[in-house]
Amino acid sequence: MTAQAEHTERAATFDVRNPATGAVVGTFPVDDDAAVRAQVERAREAQRWWSELGFAGRRPYLQRWVRYLALHCDEIYELGHTETARPRADVQFELFAGLEDVRWAAVHARKVLRERRVAPGLAMANFDARLSYQPYGVVGVITPWNAPVYLTLSGAGVALAAGNAVVVKPSELSPASAIAVLEAFHTANPDAPPALVSWVTGFGETGSALCGSGVDKLAFTGSVPTGRRVMAACAPTLTPVVLELGGKDATIVAADADLEAAAAAVMWGGLFNGGQACVGVERVYVVQEVRDAFLDAVKKQATGVDVGTGPLSAYGPMTTEAQVEIVRRHVTDALAAGAQALVGGPESIRPPYIDPIVLVDVPEDRPAVREETFGPVVVVNTVPDVDEAVRRANSTEFGLGSSVFSARGGPAIARALRAGGTTVNSVLTFVGMSSMPFGGVGSSGFGRFHGADGLREFAYARSVVRKR
Ligand code: NAD
Repeated sequence: MTAQAEHTERAATFDVRNPATGAVVGTFPVDDDAAVRAQVERAREAQRWWSELGFAGRRPYLQRWVRYLALHCDEIYELGHTETARPRADVQFELFAGLEDVRWAAVHARKVLRERRVAPGLAMANFDARLSYQPYGVVGVITPWNAPVYLTLSGAGVALAAGNAVVVKPSELSPASAIAVLEAFHTANPDAPPALVSWVTGFGETGSALCGSGVDKLAFTGSVPTGRRVMAACAPTLTPVVLELGGKDATIVAADADLEAAAAAVMWGGLFNGGQACVGVERVYVVQEVRDAFLDAVKKQATGVDVGTGPLSAYGPMTTEAQVEIVRRHVTDALAAGAQALVGGPESIRPPYIDPIVLVDVPEDRPAVREETFGPVVVVNTVPDVDEAVRRANSTEFGLGSSVFSARGGPAIARALRAGGTTVNSVLTFVGMSSMPFGGVGSSGFGRFHGADGLREFAYARSVVRKR
């Protein structure tokens, strides 16, 4: 028995291609409904063994996994780089953020989920009340292509720490690095049942099969349209879901902000992974008073950025042609509607690469402001004051991340923003903080990854009351 789903020799396969060169970098099976169901059944058996180990018994398995990956990190960087043409440093960033999530969950699972006594209340004073958090059983984890290492570790690792077995369906665009991370669990723990940590591969049909396979919980990270399909596919079996979806993160730059620091952070947050990040900075609202100075600083930051696959490149190619076309549509539409290009423009689009583009004064009803662009495009719009900045930042269907730059008003402005997380005087940081929950509101989804809430996401509350 292996951690990979079992296949007949006739199973269809698909190729993964490096988006910069087009070279085939791997071939994987397309798992059908029967293969997915069989894998989930095997996982169910393995979960019983894992559950009986208890918190103290499970912890060393997770710690050995973390240690093994930290020692073999170069192999993961290379695989991530070959598969998606991203800089190795970006893969390094996601690997260590993911390892920290697993480490945190392994150390804190007992404290967060163990059985505890609860005051029964006056009317039930003659009862002893105990609350505990039980693992669901088998958790299906479906991941997107843009952070395959991080999201595999964060999703699967936290579900495991809560006592579940996991079946992961990585993106068809980047399965190799995700599978390498899962294989490492078994290399570090040869005595663990193979089906405790396993995977299935394929396209949307395989993901859909996992939703309907009888898994006890489904953790999905990906786009909003796919999130809707996942929820529909989970509805017939009432399989609970956690949805981590897209975003249109806004940054507010107040008059008392450190403008150089804000410009550097905004451009880093907008260009990280070529803008192909759920919490990428896509919109900036700067107050009129500091607009010109801020735009000067942004222009400096966005000029001369090395885009390519060299060791010092800031980011690599767009991963799909469809993504290039979304960027083209948003940029040309915004310019036709009266926006100005501060940096770059349509000529920056040279598939599969796109150089940084900064648009200013984009009408608020255009797709570049309303829809997820998921490319190296930052919109900077000017507002009279912070109140208007908050109003516009909140005027979106999304609510994943956000950030605020202000010397004195940061926390107060942050409290007024409708988003799962806000970073003050920096960007993106809340995503990688393992002790804090991460997730969205509105079309950005629901449920939380990591932190105590993330551990409870993968366990159900059980009340036991005993008459004294
Ligand atoms: P996607 O929705 O196209 O695919 C995500 C995964 O879902 C893939 O594994 C895919 O094979 C699978 N899938 C496709 N159709 C399915 C179906 N009908 N049923 C079940 N599974 C199905 O997303 P993508 O292009 O890989 O990733 C980019 C998107 O992910 C962006 O919108 C980005 O914002 C979002 N994202 C969100 C977070 C977060 O934590 N909120 C993190 C990273 C990416």
